[in-house]
Amino acid sequence: MAATLAAPRPARATGTLRLDFIDVGQGDAALVTSPTGKTMLIDGGPRTSSGARLAFLTKHTHGPLDLILLTHRHEDHLGGLAAAVNQIGAGQFIDAPVPHPGTAYAALLRALEAHGVAVRQATRGRQIDLGGGAILTLVGPPDPPIVGSRSDVNANSVVARLTYGKFAVLFAGDAEAPTEAWLLASGDDLGAAVLKVPHHGSRYASGVRFLRAVHARIAIISAGAGNSYGHPAAQTLERLARSGAAVYRTDTEGDVTVETDGDEIQVQTARGRQQTLQAP
Ligand SMILES: [Zn+2]
Repeated sequence: MAATLAAPRPARATGTLRLDFIDVGQGDAALVTSPTGKTMLIDGGPRTSSGARLAFLTKHTHGPLDLILLTHRHEDHLGGLAAAVNQIGAGQFIDAPVPHPGTAYAALLRALEAHGVAVRQATRGRQIDLGGGAILTLVGPPDPPIVGSRSDVNANSVVARLTYGKFAVLFAGDAEAPTEAWLLASGDDLGAAVLKVPHHGSRYASGVRFLRAVHARIAIISAGAGNSYGHPAAQTLERLARSGAAVYRTDTEGDVTVETDGDEIQVQTARGRQQTLQAP
């Protein structure tokens, strides 16, 4: 049975699931607003993006976030979370598994403690009921953990699949090739109309077999304009194009918003690109 988030405050029910992939420069941050108005932030971008992201969250949330999910403990995913907790608040925090100490993570822990936010560990198989029929399932982190990879922090990213009606979205964190192989072997359903492309579209992820299993129609890359890593990689963009997915990028298109009633999917970017399609 899925755990239900306790939300005593009044939520605004719309019947629509909304996903905002926020342009945070080089990093990841996605705001999920459930059909009953519950809010979940998946990653919080780097610290340098705190101001812009807080402005976005203030505009699009009513009261504290119900849940914050951290995919892994790198600064480009958690640096902005302490400010979000301090200024907006959160009901619950789900932490990524692999330690990666640093000042940003220490600041986040201090903020969580100061505000009495419940901290839980991400475990594969955990389900969270976001309300209105939207269910989040953690299909990762890999269990047992991947060790000895190029980056064990990335490879053990929390991977989450959110379903609503016929719609599904896969949040792949900074998963890399070993994670994708593990997910494929796990037997979990990875199918999703929308894929938050792993690891900023780097060449270390988005393998052909993984993309085939996900079979996304919309692929969203969160990366910073002119970033020093060369994200997204040309060969990854090529694999995504060959997989048949329409690619959206926060570095060139700003915030990317997806709205669905569980059947029809609407995509819109800050720069005015729009697309409507049916959930498979
Ligand atoms: Zn990252």
